[in-house]
Amino acid sequence: MAGMRAMVLERPGSPLVLCERPIPAPGPGEILVEIAACGVCRTDLHVVDGELPDPKLPIVPGHEIVGRVAVLGADVKGFAPGERVGVPWLGHTCQICPYCRSGRENLCDAPLFTGYTSDGGYATHVIAEARFCFPLRGSSDDAETAPLLCAGLIGWRSYRMAGEGRALGLYGFGAAAHILAQVAAWQGRRVYAFTRAGDVAAQSLAKSLCAVWAGGSEEKPPEPLDAAIIFAPVGALVPLALKAVKKGGRVVCGGIHMSDIPSFPYRDLWEERQIVSVANLTREDAREFLAIAPQAGVKTTVTRYPLDDANVALADLRQGRIQGAAVLIP
Ligand SMILES: [Zn+2]
Ligand SMILES: [Zn+2]
Repeated sequence: MAGMRAMVLERPGSPLVLCERPIPAPGPGEILVEIAACGVCRTDLHVVDGELPDPKLPIVPGHEIVGRVAVLGADVKGFAPGERVGVPWLGHTCQICPYCRSGRENLCDAPLFTGYTSDGGYATHVIAEARFCFPLRGSSDDAETAPLLCAGLIGWRSYRMAGEGRALGLYGFGAAAHILAQVAAWQGRRVYAFTRAGDVAAQSLAKSLCAVWAGGSEEKPPEPLDAAIIFAPVGALVPLALKAVKKGGRVVCGGIHMSDIPSFPYRDLWEERQIVSVANLTREDAREFLAIAPQAGVKTTVTRYPLDDANVALADLRQGRIQGAAVLIP
């Protein structure tokens, strides 16, 4: 059988290397997916930089995969060869731990995560457990759909965690925020976009996506917020966001990794303000969001890179040079 190409991380802190390998065969319950596009998520940077514990090494990063079913493993039901599918971050759960049994598979005790503890989408092909893949119907562009698979899904979980308040702050206006801003505006909420001070490009993208206000993260929004979601991996934003939310308001930390949170006066937390984090996603989150995104008319802004330029894409994301989301095309 022909070979596949993959960009591989051999050890954290080193650039990815292009490898050719034989195309693997799917085992029972698995599918082989021929990849059309894979989004570049900030989590990939954390994997590459060694900021997350115990990655599988070597690892192929990437967990925002859009592709087509190439081969079905034994016992796979509900998918047909050629069908377009999405492969997200949550790649496997045990189904027997207390979290899995109480509808919180995002917190499973023995999970696998695509592009972190199992090989992901910076490649031409990937093996995925069929139960954790989603059919992607409709004729949306593959590259523009890829960011929905994590920025969209985990963004959606963060968004629901933020509650029903009408005034919503988004700290860090990258891939996730630019998707969520559209959903929030569609639902009639007022979106306040916080970016690095002076990041005019991100602020104008936010305004073009119906944010009612965009400014630097040190700035005070023109009205107190009901809730804020922090997507930037910057712990110093937590006390800033707490100051921006009203009594009973909630600050949701949407990322997998953040620099340390500086200490702050208890007064800023008092009056029933809350700080919560979001971890991973459930398949229910995915089904909900993938149904809502087209209704809300979500349009992603993407920058395409050839697969071989994965290191360039990662560097651009690290430097804040990307508006919206970066996507690798094999
Ligand atoms: Zn479990
Ligand atoms: Zn991600």
